[in-house]
Amino acid sequence: MPATHKMPLLFLGHGNPMNAISENEFVVGFREITKTIPKPKAIVCISAHWETDGTFVTAMEYPPTIHDFGGFPKALFDVQYPASGNPTLAEKIRALSKNQIQLDFTWGLDHGTWSVVKHLYPEADVPIVQISLDYKKSAQQHYETIQALAPLRHEGILIVGSGNLVHNLQRLAWDKLNQDTYAYDWAEESNEQIKEEIRVQNHQQLMNHPTEENHFKLSIPTPEHYLPLLYLLGLQEENEPVYFFNDKIIGGSLSMTSLKIGK
Ligand code: ZN
Repeated sequence: MPATHKMPLLFLGHGNPMNAISENEFVVGFREITKTIPKPKAIVCISAHWETDGTFVTAMEYPPTIHDFGGFPKALFDVQYPASGNPTLAEKIRALSKNQIQLDFTWGLDHGTWSVVKHLYPEADVPIVQISLDYKKSAQQHYETIQALAPLRHEGILIVGSGNLVHNLQRLAWDKLNQDTYAYDWAEESNEQIKEEIRVQNHQQLMNHPTEENHFKLSIPTPEHYLPLLYLLGLQEENEPVYFFNDKIIGGSLSMTSLKIGK
C-alpha cells in the first residue's frame, strides 16, 4: 500500500447483536466489503453505544470486550474480541483534536464495535481505539469534531462508524424480524431520503434530521445510532464516491444500510 493511499470510510448498520455470532447476508456483506479495503494499521470506531459528557478515545493497551446488553443467550456473552488497543494512536487523536477528544482508560470495545468489526477482521489482528459520542453536542458539532482526524486516513487508519440510518426499537416488529425485508413507510422514506442526500453530499440537510418534526421523528427517535454517520460525512471529501451495501430494512424500523465512502 503506497503511503499516500487514502483509506476509505465505513458506516456499518449493526442491527441485532446476535449478528456477532450468526451467519447471514449482513455478515457476508461485512466480509465482502473488507476484501475491497487495504488491511489497515489500526481502526478508529465511533460507536452508537458509548455516550459521554465530552468526547473520549479509549487509550488502554488491551481494551476489554464489553457485553452492554441484556436478555441474549450466553453464547453472546461469551464472545471476546481480543484486538489490542493503540495508546500511541489515542494520544495522536488527542493531540490532533487539540484536547477536544480526551483519553479514556475506563471503557473498552462495546458491542457497537465488536459485533461488526469481528466480521471485518475475525483474527482480531488490527488494533482498535473507540471514540465516544458527547451527548451535549449538536449534530454540527459531531460533524466538526472528527475533522481534525482527517490526516489519519493517509496513515493507513480505517475510520468506522457503527450505528443505523433508521433505528426505532420501540416500533420494532419482532415477529417480522426474520422476514427478508419488512419496512414501515416512514422508515423506508427516511432511509431513501438519507441515501439520496448522501449521494449528492447534502451534509447540511443530513445534519437536520435528528431534530426534525416529520417522519424522521419516528426514524431517529434518539440520535445516537444516527450520529456515527455524521462523523464519516465530516471526513468525506468533495465528490468522494459512495457505495451502499446491506441496504435493507428489517423488522419494520431498523435499517441495516451500510456504506463505504472513498476507495
Ligand atoms: Zn445498537
